[in-house]
Amino acid sequence: MTNAPIEPTKFRLGWEEWLALPDLGLPAIKAKIDTGAKTSALHAVRVEPFGSEAKPQVRFIMHPDPDDPTIEVVCSARVKDRRSVTSSNGQTELRYIIQANATIGDKTMPIDISLTNRETMGYRMLLGRSAIDDGMIVSPTESFLQGQLSYSVYKKRRKSSVKQRPLRIGILTQSPSNYSNRRMIEAAESRGHTIDCIYTSRCYMAINAHKPEVHYDGKPLERYDAIIPRIGASLTFYGMAVVRQFEAMGVYVLNRADSIGKSRDKLLAHQLLGQHGLGMPATAFAKSSRDTKGILDLVGGSPAVVKLLESTQGRGVVLAETRKSASALIDAFRGLDAHFLVQEFVKEAAGSDIRCFVVNGKVVGSMMRTAAPGDFRSNVHQGGSVKTVRLTRDERRAAIRAAKILKLDVSGVDILRSDSGPKILEVNSSPGLQGIEQATGKDIAGSIIECIEANVPTIYRVGQKG
Ligand code: ADP
Repeated sequence: MTNAPIEPTKFRLGWEEWLALPDLGLPAIKAKIDTGAKTSALHAVRVEPFGSEAKPQVRFIMHPDPDDPTIEVVCSARVKDRRSVTSSNGQTELRYIIQANATIGDKTMPIDISLTNRETMGYRMLLGRSAIDDGMIVSPTESFLQGQLSYSVYKKRRKSSVKQRPLRIGILTQSPSNYSNRRMIEAAESRGHTIDCIYTSRCYMAINAHKPEVHYDGKPLERYDAIIPRIGASLTFYGMAVVRQFEAMGVYVLNRADSIGKSRDKLLAHQLLGQHGLGMPATAFAKSSRDTKGILDLVGGSPAVVKLLESTQGRGVVLAETRKSASALIDAFRGLDAHFLVQEFVKEAAGSDIRCFVVNGKVVGSMMRTAAPGDFRSNVHQGGSVKTVRLTRDERRAAIRAAKILKLDVSGVDILRSDSGPKILEVNSSPGLQGIEQATGKDIAGSIIECIEANVPTIYRVGQKG
């Protein structure tokens, strides 16, 4: 018998090869080629099913480098099957089977992979024979015929570049069926993600150092890849605590609690934006009634706008036409122990403001809101109108900077157009989608989901700072 010559056209594999599973966010894995096993197997721990029955998905943690267990990659994929698999040690186990592209050398092909704990094995992956086709040949005496990769890639990459990874997203809200939530659910589902609404007020939590959890309906919530906080003004304090708890669990939150807090506190937000040199209406704040004259002088006298710090949607924002009425208003608010700001009235804005919707450092939509006749508050909707607006370069820049200073991934930045350039009124950390989508015809919900896709980390360094 003569040995058949090795066909040079065949794709050659050694008994061990480096490969990548790009759909799973795994750019380098050392795999053992195992023609004795039918299906390929991948190391997976904390395997959690999620999604609907019609679209089952699975989320798991993978430690790609056997010598460095601190590198943890969060993976997720559509479930193709769940079946009993017998391993080489004779044990039968019910395993999830997923399908993912494998890249070996310059070849990329979809392969079936079973998920199992391979912690004690030398290789985090086995490439089984169903992944090896007729065009390939395995050389049992050689290694890494398709080139070398390195685990160092995991040290550099922090954010996900895996667009296809199905994510499990939660919206923290008190009104799941409102327009904004419906649109975000639609946008997430159309991109293959699983998304559900969690009532903020029904979350409760145990605060401890070892295992932060959020409980809901009597049990700990499963792991989410991302949380979208839609915290109403009346629930700011509790909502921020819930958001912080998700942060402590390592979940990516779109708008961190600290940023939500800063945007909700009008005084703090103004101070922060002012420190960074952003234009805003001249604003004054004082505690003592002795200083009423002083604060009115600071904002240029009358007319002046007096705003309750807790005001939302224009409720608690009053225009005082004369110095006398402004003083009377300030004294009345003081008598009620209310906290308020006094502000220069920007006349030339003529009852209009501009809402810039900023997502991930970009203005994705903008509209001009104009007050109903007789009112100056353009965000009060009775009789007000909305239209698209072209932003000036300065307005766009100011909106982006404001979002960046407050570190908000998603925000609605309200600007008054004044003779001396854009003046920031407010930065909203749960801006509504209805007005802006209807005014601009843009898919703002889609931009929000894309922001999550771009920012959800997949690679973590556990047990290490930084
Ligand atoms: P809220 O947080 O209650 O929405 P805003 O500060 O946004 O309060 O004020 C509500 C509306 O009142 C704004 O949309 C704007 O049209 C108008 N407004 C507020 N402050 C001024 C101001 N200093 N000059 C002119 N118009 C103002």
